[in-house]
Amino acid sequence: MLLSPPQAAAALRCAAENGFALLAVNADSPAAITDCLEAARQLDAPIIVETSLWQLTGHSFGAGDPELGLARYLVNLAVLAAAPRYADVPVLFHTDHIKGPITLPLLQAALRGLPTGVTGATLSPSTISLDSSQLSEADNIQTLLALCQEAQRTGRPLTLEMEAGVDDGVTPLEVAERLLTGVESVSPGYLALWAPGVGTQHGLGDPGTFSESAVRSHQQLATRLCGRPIGIALHGSSGLPPARLQAAVAAGVTKVNWSSESLLLRSTAAQEFYQVRSAELVKTHPDWKATAMDNGVQAYVSARYLPKVSERLRLLGSVGQGARIRPILPRA
Ligand SMILES: [Zn+2]
Repeated sequence: MLLSPPQAAAALRCAAENGFALLAVNADSPAAITDCLEAARQLDAPIIVETSLWQLTGHSFGAGDPELGLARYLVNLAVLAAAPRYADVPVLFHTDHIKGPITLPLLQAALRGLPTGVTGATLSPSTISLDSSQLSEADNIQTLLALCQEAQRTGRPLTLEMEAGVDDGVTPLEVAERLLTGVESVSPGYLALWAPGVGTQHGLGDPGTFSESAVRSHQQLATRLCGRPIGIALHGSSGLPPARLQAAVAAGVTKVNWSSESLLLRSTAAQEFYQVRSAELVKTHPDWKATAMDNGVQAYVSARYLPKVSERLRLLGSVGQGARIRPILPRA
């Protein structure tokens, strides 16, 4: 089931109150989306599927047009999540690292509901965030407030993640207070996740100066300022060893973004497939067609990638949490 914004807020609150985190996979192909939902189904775990701008404009989805890309991605995910096999899996779709001049018009269109071309049906993300790395504090606040105003104007639901310079070391608490208060005091109730810098870095490098105590103090501050449980969204998790990831969850992380390592796992598995099967990719070989088909490489990648997704779900305490989330979801 693809969760609506209020349902996503309930699932994230459940994670904050029960000390687990949702895995948010930056999935860049339909096959990766399938693997994510299948891993979640096998473990009765919730899962977040998220995309950045580069996937929306990429060849598999928008082919240059981000709004088309978002609609096409959402249709793909919504159809799969509604299938009987995945109907019990709490699935969230999140917009991650949207930036540049397209940010506000794209996210406002997403919030209003993107046309799918299917008899008037529209689809919206479960949760929305944007990349604030090139924004001033005032612009960060104003962009989120513009989304809240659009939600109020159109009567559409909205659940937000706010971020602050996630690659710039630990965000000072006074900056956090200004940003969170800037949104919450004007448009209360929309924020569900806070993504401050906690010392991690995007990419596959050293975990750097990651600080569990920064996670804890930011989680407590955000919860106090908003008057409801606000979990921390952890960016740059790929370089963190398992024990530190678990410590991050214990300290208040409720959403763990996973992109760099996920991409590398999939691409190295594909590379291995074409190396191992290269002799079959000639027109005289009897099995050339099975090797050339998309399903050939994707099935090979899936067999290696899906166990890694499962491993992450276990690390984050997500196993079996579908059973905890389903009964508390508001009606869609
Ligand atoms: Zn990120």
